[in-house]
Formats: sequence, C-alpha cells, structure tokens
Amino acid sequence: METEVTIIGGGVIGLGIAARLAPKVKSLVLFERHDAWGQEISSRNSEVLHSGIYYAPDSLKAAFCAKGQRMLYELAAEAGIPHRRCGKIIIASSESEEADLLRLKSCGERNGAEGLRLLTGAEVVAREPAVKAVAGLLAPDSGIINAHALMDALAARAQDAGADLIRGAEVTGLEKVSDGWKISYRDADGEDTLTSRVVINSAGLGAQAVMAMAGVDPEAAGLKLHLAKGEYFTVPSKYRNRLNSMVYPVPHKNLTGLGVHTVPDLSGSFKLGPNAFYVNTINYTVDESHAAEFYESARKYLPFLQPDDLVPAMSGIRPKLSAENEPARDFYIRHEAERGAAGFFNLAGMESPGLTSCCAIGDYIAGMVCDYL
Ligand SMILES: Cc1cc2nc3c(=O)[nH]c(=O)nc-3n(C[C@H](O)[C@H](O)[C@H](O)COP(=O)(O)OP(=O)(O)OC[C@H]3O[C@@H](n4cnc5c(N)ncnc54)[C@H](O)[C@@H]3O)c2cc1C
Repeated sequence: METEVTIIGGGVIGLGIAARLAPKVKSLVLFERHDAWGQEISSRNSEVLHSGIYYAPDSLKAAFCAKGQRMLYELAAEAGIPHRRCGKIIIASSESEEADLLRLKSCGERNGAEGLRLLTGAEVVAREPAVKAVAGLLAPDSGIINAHALMDALAARAQDAGADLIRGAEVTGLEKVSDGWKISYRDADGEDTLTSRVVINSAGLGAQAVMAMAGVDPEAAGLKLHLAKGEYFTVPSKYRNRLNSMVYPVPHKNLTGLGVHTVPDLSGSFKLGPNAFYVNTINYTVDESHAAEFYESARKYLPFLQPDDLVPAMSGIRPKLSAENEPARDFYIRHEAERGAAGFFNLAGMESPGLTSCCAIGDYIAGMVCDYL
C-alpha cells in the first residue's frame, strides 16, 4: 500500500492536522494505536480554550493559541460541538500579585488575546460573588469544549476529505527509502507495511520513540520528553453553578503548570486542578494525600471550600521538553531534513495549549508539508 502522507497519532493534534491537510493532498493515512481517539493526553486535560495570556511572545505557543481558539469556536459552532465561552478570571489574592496581572495583560495582548480587562476586587465579586479577590484579570473569550466531540468532528472532516483513519494500529518501525518512508505497523490482523512520501510524528507521549524510529536521536537533538503529571479533584455537587467563569490564581514563576484552578464542565459543576509534578512512569492514579495542598491553594480565592470537600478525580501526563527546574520550552515542530530525515515532520513537547491550538497547528503543518511536496 502507498500513500502521500502518514500521520502517527490520533489525538487532538494528529486529528487537527488530518482535518486541515487531507483536503490538500492526494492521500492521507493516520495510525492510532488505541481503539478510540485521544485516549492518552487528549482525554486527560482541562478542556479549556485558552486565550494565549501566558506564553512567551514570538513563541509557537503564542502564535497558535489565540488563532487556534478562534478557529475552534468557529468549528464548534459549525459542527455542533458542545462548548461554553464562560470567560476566565485570574485572581490576585494579595496586593503584591496585582503587578503580575498587569504583566499578564500586556503579554496576552501582545499574543493576540482580545478583550482582556483588569477588574478591581469589587468588580470580581460582582461577577463571582463566591470568590475572594484583591483584583482580577478577565479573559472573556476563554471557554471550555468537549474534547471527545472535538476529536470526532476533526476525524469526520478528515474522512470527508478522503483520509483513511485507522484505529487499533501501532507503528513499530520507520525506514528511509528512495522516495519517502517504509512504515511497519501492527494491527489486529498482524504486521504489515505501507510506503509514504511524508511521515508526521504526532504521537504525544510516544513522540520520542517515533522520532528514534526515524533516526532522530532524542537526547542528541535535545528532544527528550520529561513527564509532568497533573491531578484533578472533584468538589461536591452542592457547588454546582456556584461559579460563572473559570477562576485561576496568578501563576508563580517557578510553577510547572498554571496553578491549581477551577475546571468547569458543561453541566455547571467544576473540578480543581491540575497540579504539576515530574514522574518517571506513566500511571494515572491520583494521590489522595494531595487533597490538602489543593485545598490550601484554592481556599485563598474560593473561601467556601471545606477541607473534606475534595475527592480524587483523574489525572493526565504532560510531555514536556523542559526537565524539572528548567525554563519552559516552546512546542517543537520541525521538518527533520537537516538531520537526514527528509519527509519526516517531527512534533514534540505538545503540552498545553495543544488542545486550543490543534487547528492552528494543523494549518501550519499543512503549509510545511505542501511546500515540501
Ligand atoms: C493535565 C493536562 C491539562 C491540560 N489542559 C489543557 C487545556 O486546558 N487546554 C489546552 O489547550 N491544552 C491542555 N493540555 C494540553 C493538551 O491536552 C495536549 O496538548 C494535547 O491533548 C496533545 O494532543 P496530542 O494529539 O499531541 O497527544 P495525544 O492525545 O496523546 O495523542 C497522541 C496519540 O498518539 C498515539 N500513538 C503514540 N505512539 C503511537 C504509535 N507508535 N503508533 C500509533 N499511535 C501512536 C497515542 O496512542 C495517542 O493517542 C493539557 C494537558 C494535560 C496533561
């Protein structure tokens, strides 16, 4: 079997690429090793459509986030994907944090976030009577989306454009051949191969193994993935509809994530999370003893919470390029021709805001691949 383009990984990013690229190429195959889309990172996250406030200006994260958010609101409206533009407020809990809000506002504006507005403590409370705040920064366009419905919609777009999306098929080897790549894969029927001019590595937590198959040494290329776990705790249903917006703390400089915040769902309930700590293995259990630190962080701005409110919910794993205590790194997206892997497009470190950015990333890769072909 032969194809022009192969994508490895059926999470939100691989599917975002498939949806944007399939209409532009002769043939496209996507391999996903699980039987359902996005069973790894894409179904274990906050499902927040970020506005682009936090990312270093001129980074890929900044370039994709605000654009990706607009693209997803459009897609959600067209495809009937459940979502809610509930807005988000970043809370300053002390006067010293007010300066951070100003810094975040100007960074967000540089990154294309629209409608950001500083709020006094009284204005925060007028919007969110259950919250305690010295001041706030409102991001009115932040929202939430159902990630599973999003992946189904992206898959449907790709299939409508002729893509062949194959679940339950794991890529096990890549070999450079004269005009592309010979791809070995294993599915329920056994082992088989396919040749493809272009291979796109969108394997999330498996990206390191896939780039090694293509001859890109992750260590030598500075692309080793470090796993940072994020846990969530639920709060009792009596707090349903207690909050209108998402409520976040000011992120502190040495924090691996954005700080424990509220994660609303589409029913009006909310979870708290995610924390962030480095781990060596992938394991999704939630450590109950972390409830105390969640409570301590969240009660600063959610004074109604009680110590025994928090119940372990779920966790996800971030594929980070930065090791513990290293500065945050940008998304890595590169055609690896210079490393002797012409036709191999490599994505690594696709952590947050990867979900928000999936269609913008799809457009970017589609441009790179079409230039190459
Ligand atoms: C705790 C947490 C919270 C987050 N919150 C947000 C948020 O609120 N907003 C936001 O924008 N982003 C958020 N993110 C980031 C976002 O979830 C990710 O950027 C995004 O889901 C990554 O998608 P992906 O397609 O790269 O990875 P995945 O969804 O993991 O997809 C990769 C796929 O590749 C498959 N695969 C791997 N190896 C192979 C192989 N050899 N053969 C075949 N298939 C293979 C895997 O099975 C997997 O399904 C969060 C992430 C975490 C962990």
